[in-house]
Amino acid sequence: RVFNFSPGPAVLPQEVLEQAREEMLDWRGTGMSVMEMSHRGKAFISIAETAEADLRELLSVPKNYKVLFLQGGAFGQFAAVPMNLSKPGDVVDYVNTGAWSKKAIGEAKHYAKVNVAADAGEPYTSIPALSGWQVSDNAAYLHYTPNETIGGVEFHFVPELKSGTPLVADMSSTLLSRPIDVSKFGLIYGGAQKNVGPAGLTLVIVREDLLGHARPGTPAFMDYAAMAKEGSMLNTPPTYAWYMAGLVFQWLKRQGGVKAMGEINRRKAELLYSTIDNSSFYKNPVAKDARSWMNIPFTLARPELDKTFTAEAKDAGLVTLEGHRSVGGMRASIYNAMPLAGVEALVSFMKEFERKHA
Ligand code: PLP
Repeated sequence: RVFNFSPGPAVLPQEVLEQAREEMLDWRGTGMSVMEMSHRGKAFISIAETAEADLRELLSVPKNYKVLFLQGGAFGQFAAVPMNLSKPGDVVDYVNTGAWSKKAIGEAKHYAKVNVAADAGEPYTSIPALSGWQVSDNAAYLHYTPNETIGGVEFHFVPELKSGTPLVADMSSTLLSRPIDVSKFGLIYGGAQKNVGPAGLTLVIVREDLLGHARPGTPAFMDYAAMAKEGSMLNTPPTYAWYMAGLVFQWLKRQGGVKAMGEINRRKAELLYSTIDNSSFYKNPVAKDARSWMNIPFTLARPELDKTFTAEAKDAGLVTLEGHRSVGGMRASIYNAMPLAGVEALVSFMKEFERKHA
């Protein structure tokens, strides 16, 4: 197998894939694949409950939070959040730190009055200082994107608001990469296809007092209270993705949980950033205090060599290093399942490429 630096759908732990292969045709003597099971049967219910319990343990999710296993991606949540947490005419605060914040804002505008409380501004390579945020007195919630997958900008702090306004976070590309204090958030959501499992599953962790206020007309499958009441099984859930996420949670526990993972992720990121910073050939544009541990964009001093870089990297077993189509250059996504050895291999390739071409 190659070292896959894809931003998502992204690399999964080898051990998890092997376990899934082993159990593919016959899950624990049931004579069927998890894909073929009724979501209401005993076998799948045990898979689902174990996955939820493991996730709760990994993130120390407090008892007064529901964990939902949904579909529709983080993009679906861009609409579900304002539909569930605001009434028509309400003000909602958003922080704009780049491409994914902008998409969340665009969607929220269909439902509520969006106040952009802080905007990093072009080229979106930093995080606006908390002291300058213009938060509304009466916002239904404040939404931000702790890790901008495209820009490679990450919050290394949780913006605690004095107002008590519920904090909503799109953690698609940072969830489970390090410890978080769930109790500081009203709602956390994310598409699974980075650190959690295969695409098709969307996680929502929501404080119970925020449930039950969905505006009239909210589709039932997007209504958190309706989904919570049915254990995320109001309709058929993404069963196989849920099962795979469960295997990832068990793998994470074997690695020592999110604290141990955070240490490894910090080391992986430091290795790559120091290689970039110590070279005059590679450059990362992001402010040092806002650099992502998960997605690391970089450019070459000779952009005409971009295609040569990715082609030679591919020959060396290092794939999906192209930057997002909107920004160009390169981007290395180094989620939980990317081992340190993968980053070491990338770093030696980069040094060799620089030696040949600089
Ligand atoms: N938010 C962030 C931070 C993302 O990285 C992505 C996808 O990469 C999305 C939202 C959109 O997620 P989805 O494709 O699951 O709808």
